[in-house]
Amino acid sequence: MSEALATQIFAHPEALPLRSVESILAAKVLVVAPHPDDECLGCGGAIALLNSCSELRIVVVSNGTMSHPNSRQFPASALQALRESETRAAMSRLGVEPAAIRFLGLPDGAVPTEGAAFDAALAQCCDYLAETEPQLIFLPWRADPHPDHQASWRLMDTALKQLRTAPRRLEYPIWDWDEAQRGNIESQIVAWRLDIHQVVQQKRDAIQLYRSQVSDLINDDPDGFFLSSEMIGHFSQPWEIYFEEIA
Ligand SMILES: [Zn+2]
Repeated sequence: MSEALATQIFAHPEALPLRSVESILAAKVLVVAPHPDDECLGCGGAIALLNSCSELRIVVVSNGTMSHPNSRQFPASALQALRESETRAAMSRLGVEPAAIRFLGLPDGAVPTEGAAFDAALAQCCDYLAETEPQLIFLPWRADPHPDHQASWRLMDTALKQLRTAPRRLEYPIWDWDEAQRGNIESQIVAWRLDIHQVVQQKRDAIQLYRSQVSDLINDDPDGFFLSSEMIGHFSQPWEIYFEEIA
């Protein structure tokens, strides 16, 4: 996908073809989130639509503790617990049971890309894929500018290559919506939109349950992360953007 194509996609997403959930139905579905909230922002509509007819699971790769690294009220262990509870609440709003969510707990901001830490994380991913056997998998977009998103893609891509039957892959953008950060990749990618109008209000409500990211719940860290209303707006549309590699 060229830079010009990426610019066109995010400037005029309404020009992308719109598909219904029937085009992606699968019995077993896995959603991979680099951080607690990416699954909701990127795929919340797909999750709500597919959950009623699929065995759907969610795996959250990192522990999310770097969103507010200096908070005294929420040190790392408390922040991790808070963010996990937000994921459970948000996913519950979309109909997903807590038991269907797995937290890998890898370090936020340092999802491994090499060495022993990568091998250990890869083993976790391989075990989880063997256990869940997804036919459809949602991955973070491989060229997302956030290093944890790229690293999560790489971990899962490496793990998926070890499966006998490859699931269909859909990749979802998060930080590419921010023009200043947008990444680029030379792959043959097709982009389209999933129609989620039936469940968009549910998705908007679920996003608001990530209170540590969308409100001043944690107010003692000047470096704390805040999901801007502009970013939330990109994920509050009655459609979601997906990228799929052309075989
Ligand atoms: Zn993220």
